[in-house]
Amino acid sequence: GGFTGSLADMADHWARVAPGRPATGNAGGRRLGFRALADRSAQVADALGDAAGPVAYLGRDSAVWAELMVGASRRGVPAVPLNWRLAPAELARVLEHARPSVVVSDAAFLPSLGLERESEETVVVLNGGLVFVGGYDAWLSGRPTTFERRPADPGATALLVYTSGTSGRPKAVQLTNGNIAANLASSAPWDVGPGSVVCVPTPLFHVSGTGWLFYCLGRGARSVFLTDASPEGVLRVLADVRATHMLSVPAVVQTLVQSPAVADADLSDLQTLIYGGSPMPPAVIREAAAALGCDLVQSYGMTEACGPITFLDADDHRRGGPRLASAGRAADGVEISVRDPATGADVPAGTTGEVWMRSALLSPGYLGDEGDGEADNARAFGPDGWFRTGDAGHLDDGGYLFLTDRVTDMIITGGENVYPVEVENVLADHPDVAEVAVVGAPHERWGETVVALVVARPGTAPAGPELIAFCRERLAHYKCPTRVDIVGELPRTPSGKVLKRRLREPSSAV
Ligand code: AMP
Ligand code: MG
Repeated sequence: GGFTGSLADMADHWARVAPGRPATGNAGGRRLGFRALADRSAQVADALGDAAGPVAYLGRDSAVWAELMVGASRRGVPAVPLNWRLAPAELARVLEHARPSVVVSDAAFLPSLGLERESEETVVVLNGGLVFVGGYDAWLSGRPTTFERRPADPGATALLVYTSGTSGRPKAVQLTNGNIAANLASSAPWDVGPGSVVCVPTPLFHVSGTGWLFYCLGRGARSVFLTDASPEGVLRVLADVRATHMLSVPAVVQTLVQSPAVADADLSDLQTLIYGGSPMPPAVIREAAAALGCDLVQSYGMTEACGPITFLDADDHRRGGPRLASAGRAADGVEISVRDPATGADVPAGTTGEVWMRSALLSPGYLGDEGDGEADNARAFGPDGWFRTGDAGHLDDGGYLFLTDRVTDMIITGGENVYPVEVENVLADHPDVAEVAVVGAPHERWGETVVALVVARPGTAPAGPELIAFCRERLAHYKCPTRVDIVGELPRTPSGKVLKRRLREPSSAV
């Protein structure tokens, strides 16, 4: 306890206390002990020279990101994980926004940066003009494993995590050392400590992936990245590493517990399944508890809160009942209020409104104090430290939060956020498209899937597959519609706004 939230302080602490214990790494890949993590991160800090901008990582889940994150912390610059699923044009906008001094990239993703792929290794790119430097290991080799640094500043930005902006433009959440310290202090229901082995299947460019990495680092626990999300792959790793905790999203939990392989899996060390990101039906919760024979803990959170703000803890799950449909109660140090979206006044228990939160977990705001950054900050960060989550729900008389909908039209598909406007803007650029509305349709596996309703320009007859291909050239695949319906007109309000809510109803969106 008592951490400043500095990733470098955490790494140094565990390097002293448990130097040889595994800290992090890929299942089946290179793993790193706490001492090695501290040493390698000092080499990163040295290699950064006088870099003043963030350090970015474009790669699949790997211990390299842990070294960069801690190295950036030593140097006192932010670290930013880049979404490798983005199309080159989207990535270019993110880089222009983040202005990293250095990008460390899997060679496989160099073409996304507009550079030639020259090798198989992880490489270093200097971003001032995107100059390829060479192999990552060579960049660190021979450098000192100690690094003189100033004491950590609680207000300093440790991480920049990108989320899709409602405008479709990049939006970066600034997370400080203080936010990370608050996350470590408020997450007792996860019951993770030294000796825990936590499987992390979520990508590191999400707060759920990177958050779990720094959370385990703070707790002295081992994090294991899972790159194969198939039920067989997950079950094999859980047994191989003797996992005590596993993190998952509802879509994956469902396929996992329904897989025939689960009956034969060795899950004797598994204590807790932690899930969240979107609602999980109580029937699946019960099925998961029975199939895995472990505790369940749900968390509800968001990038802006550096992780969870409510927990449905293991006792809540054992008690069962109607509260299984809730997201649980406010975490330690978190205030939740549900407000009337029109007046801003608190609503009584049982009444649906917009969910607001206040906590030391809360980011100081989005990067950029002009243009989009300023507009997004003004919309979401209210007075007196309160944050508007964009989620709709109600509290019951015991303070349990039931999430019912989103105030915005955001689609969550397989745990990825998709803002309809971003997809609509792309489709609207197609010469045969007169009007378009993009909505989420219920999907058995992914929670929601992206569906586009298109009104064709007179005299044209665009085909669905052609429009989907058009999107795939311009957007990350998960943002692309899986279905395009050509319709005569879109339902609108008298003021001309498309009735998204009506389109989302299964009867009209099929
Ligand atoms: P992100 O910032 O990408 O992590 O997305 C945060 C959003 O995911 C929240 O605002 C919610 O809409 C949704 N979310 C996260 N956890 C849960 C949960 N346990 N139940 C329902 N929705 C959730
Ligand atoms: Mg959000």
